Amino acid sequence: MGLFSKRDPKIKVQSTKRDGYSGWVKCTHCNEMVHASELQQNLHCCPKCDYHYRLSATQRVELIADQGTFVEMFTNFKPVDPLQFVDTEAYSKRLENAQKNSGRDEAAMVGTCKVLGNAVALGVLDFTFMAGSMGSVVGERLTAIIEHALATQLPMVIISASGGARMQESALSLMQMAKTSAALAKLHEAGLPYISVLTNPTTGGVTASFASLGDIIVAEPDALIGFAGPRVVEQAIRQKLPPGAQRSEFLLEKGMIDCIVKRHELKQKLCELISLLTGNQREFQDSSSFHAAYSQTLGKLPQKLKELMALAEIEKPVSKK
Ligand SMILES: [Zn+2]
Repeated sequence: MGLFSKRDPKIKVQSTKRDGYSGWVKCTHCNEMVHASELQQNLHCCPKCDYHYRLSATQRVELIADQGTFVEMFTNFKPVDPLQFVDTEAYSKRLENAQKNSGRDEAAMVGTCKVLGNAVALGVLDFTFMAGSMGSVVGERLTAIIEHALATQLPMVIISASGGARMQESALSLMQMAKTSAALAKLHEAGLPYISVLTNPTTGGVTASFASLGDIIVAEPDALIGFAGPRVVEQAIRQKLPPGAQRSEFLLEKGMIDCIVKRHELKQKLCELISLLTGNQREFQDSSSFHAAYSQTLGKLPQKLKELMALAEIEKPVSKK
């Protein structure tokens, strides 16, 4: 096989086009060709089919926080490998690679910011870092920011994107479910609102803890939300799942989430919810415009929020039971 033994074949394959990167990408959802710049301008939603692509934690913060208001906190908690865990690769090595590839030191970014003028405590999970899995540091950073929200009387917003608990930390990772839930219970007792935003995908121990504990649970369209993935569920129950199961729209219909909000409207919707739940009238010129916005938001939202609002008197901040 002379052809293959030649070190420098005569036929040269041009690996890159002369005009360089054309910038066109194929939407994985509708197979239409979309220009990368158009996708970027459209907040990484497909302009043709509106499929919401994943965002990094930094992009999330840019989307939600007023410019220059985000102050990152609790970066002093750094990941370690207490179990010296090795599967196909050592955990320490996996951490190193994840840090290199994502440019982040862990899967959670927490801090305070303003959302259209409303001060909030914000936690964001980054799926690009080990699938946004919840290890000790993710749990600790989230708990710390929830406790900070409690100490400074701030509403809490957590935006999740996660594959669940981080198996390389074994039981230590599972304990984060109880820890974050306990911190949120204290926030709840203090009457401070917590809004949970679920993005594609939110699964496993994250769904089974803080992501499902929001006073209001918001989801992005067509996000996969569940505990075990659809294939595992089908294998376990030996039945085919109905179409669209574990997707936002299905979960809204079944009452597991409160509303689906498109990415373009998320910031405005968060602002409305925070204003209403904290009785903050700063955004409104007078009480009649506040009431108009109030009923407009209520009209769009399902039963659970209406019940929540009914618990509070209209003029006063919500004190949750
Ligand atoms: Zn598309």
